[in-house]
Amino acid sequence: MLTTPATSRQKLSHHTPYLVLDETEPNGEGGQVETTTVFLTASPCPIGCRMCDLHRHTLPGPTPEGVVAEQIDAALAKRPRRGWLKLYNSGNFFDPQSIPVSDYEAIALRCEGFSRLVVENHPRFGAERLRRFRDRLPVQLEVAVGLETVQPRWLNRLAKQMTRDEFDRYARWLAGEGVDLRVFLILGVPGVTAREATRWARLSVRHALAASARHISLIPARIGEGWSGLGDQLPSLSMDVLGEIQRAVLRDADGRAAVTIDVWDIDRAERGFEDLCRRNLTQQPD
Ligand code: SF4
Repeated sequence: MLTTPATSRQKLSHHTPYLVLDETEPNGEGGQVETTTVFLTASPCPIGCRMCDLHRHTLPGPTPEGVVAEQIDAALAKRPRRGWLKLYNSGNFFDPQSIPVSDYEAIALRCEGFSRLVVENHPRFGAERLRRFRDRLPVQLEVAVGLETVQPRWLNRLAKQMTRDEFDRYARWLAGEGVDLRVFLILGVPGVTAREATRWARLSVRHALAASARHISLIPARIGEGWSGLGDQLPSLSMDVLGEIQRAVLRDADGRAAVTIDVWDIDRAERGFEDLCRRNLTQQPD
């Protein structure tokens, strides 16, 4: 089931999420798990990475108290509460402007029935708030962090406000707190060829594996509204290239982490790629 309650910033409402997706994803143990992803309508991310276009789906100011729980209720009203839940807020979950701290209790209550909650966060936000929220949760917490790429200088060029060392320290801290790590990587930056994009994707996956990521999600770079006008210099990654990358990173991971390629933005006509992904996944070591 796919719900798209809003299609442009003008139509956004703080009473409803801007998108809800029902998917299955690999559980990292050789199986699949039902997953509900709720894209919350919340305040803009203050980090402002250059390649990011998520601000299109945000409210002009801080998220009002109480509305996040309201949005989750709207998303889950007709859905079974089982499997995994992702609450993505086009920013950082532990940014109090985006997810008010006073809402933590109500959000935690709404995770009952699921077995895992995945949220996104940047290392700059809220160690103490993370602990406070985790302690209320009835489910395993997983934090997704955008490492993006280990290609030299690119974290700086993306204005990511995070170095590789800071990412590594945060990954170790999460592990010490009993929180699982998911890593987002972009596939391709402006000015590289498809071959170079593949090479850097593999090196980035290896870095994420060394940081004990439980799940690594590769996201083909979208032109979107980001990239400071350089979007037309992104490499063109054909379905064949994406399939090759997927096979290579699955070999590199060797079962130590679930590794997926995000196909949310790939045209429906090209959904043959999903079949290719499934075929590759059947070759993934358990
Ligand atoms: S930290 Fe994440 S949400 Fe914020 S601008 Fe960067 S990529 Fe976008």
